[in-house]
Formats: sequence, structure tokens, C-alpha cells
Amino acid sequence: MNVSDMNLIFLGPPGAGKGTQTKKLIEEFGFIHLSTGDILRQLIRSRDTLGLQAQIYMDQGKLVPDGLILEMIQTKMEKKCGYIFDGFPRTIDQASALDKIVPVDHVVYLFLSHDVILKRLTGRRVCEKCGKEYHIEFMPSSLKDSCELCKGRLYQREDDRPFVIENRLSVYEKQTKPLLEYYHEKLIRIEACGNVLSIDQENIKKIGLSTHKAMSQCCS
Ligand SMILES: [Zn+2]
Repeated sequence: MNVSDMNLIFLGPPGAGKGTQTKKLIEEFGFIHLSTGDILRQLIRSRDTLGLQAQIYMDQGKLVPDGLILEMIQTKMEKKCGYIFDGFPRTIDQASALDKIVPVDHVVYLFLSHDVILKRLTGRRVCEKCGKEYHIEFMPSSLKDSCELCKGRLYQREDDRPFVIENRLSVYEKQTKPLLEYYHEKLIRIEACGNVLSIDQENIKKIGLSTHKAMSQCCS
């Protein structure tokens, strides 16, 4: 049984570091990362119609509608397992739709305090050319306002501004927390209060060990 024969979901508030945590698992275990946030931003950068449609919602700190998200996810899935879902599902409706498409083995829930979330998100900066993320306090660029990789300008995403973040958090509380109940039996809880953009070995082990121990429900 290979860990890449299973599907994982990563849950957590904006700023919990889902992108970084999943990156480690992808490198170590060979999962395929499906981040709705990343996919959306790619579509927006390439001026895709779907992306532009979604941007209207994201700029207001609102969730992109289920139909749009589902369509996007399914076009990215070529097999039944080996995926990490990041930023999806966000609602019970999306979760039950996903259940009809593929089995879910584990749901990794990252939790952290309101203050930490605010500090992380308001300090985030993104390269407008290549999309690389920085943080003014925890991971600043050595070129100040420019990207170390491509010299692109670093900017603050519209949905990282304080009033939008407060809105994102209340949307998260209201719509995503019921998922913890929905996935109750598949939940792995991880405290995500370490330094931004880096997680400790213990947490990696916790996810790794848990996934190793677990029996996959698919591709067996
Ligand atoms: Zn760049």
C-alpha cells in the first residue's frame, strides 16, 4: 500500500500554511496537489474567462460558487487517488459532491489563533510575475519589493487586506467548520502555530505516520 494511493483533504483557516504543509507531503510521498486557490490565481493571471469570473468573488472576500469550483477540480483529475485537496471542499455540498467522485482517506485539520492568522496574512506578499510568496516579517525578499527569482514586483493580494481577511475568517467559520463535524471520523488535528511558511518535523511525521498507518480505501 502506497500513501500516494489515497486521498487527503487539508482543512484550516486562511493563513494556516496549507500550501507549505502540503508541499512537504508532495515531495516526500508523491501526492498530487490540487489547490483551488493556486488554480484560480493561474487562471486569473492568464486572463481565462473562468478566472475572471472567480476574481469578482475573491476580491470581495467571498467564496467562489460550488459549480465553478467543481468544474475546475474535475478537469484537473485524471485518476481516482493520490491527491491532496487544498482549499476544497469548503462546504458540506462540495464535500458530498466529492464523496460521489472519489473516496477520502484522511482530513488534516490545521488550527491556529485569530491573531496569528491576521499577522500571517497581512504580511504576505506575492510576485505578480511568477506567483512566488513572501512574508514581510517571516520570509522577506532579499530584493525588498522585488522577487528573488524573476525580479517581478511584489504586491499584496486584494484578499489579504485586513478588512477582507476579517470577512474571509467569518465566511470560514460559518461555512467550513461544519466540515469538521462531517469528517469527524477521518480527522487528524495539527496545531499550526509555528513560524509562517515552515512546519516542524514532528508535524510532518504526524501526517506521514498517520497516512502510513492508514488503510487506503481506493486503488486496492
Ligand atoms: Zn517572481
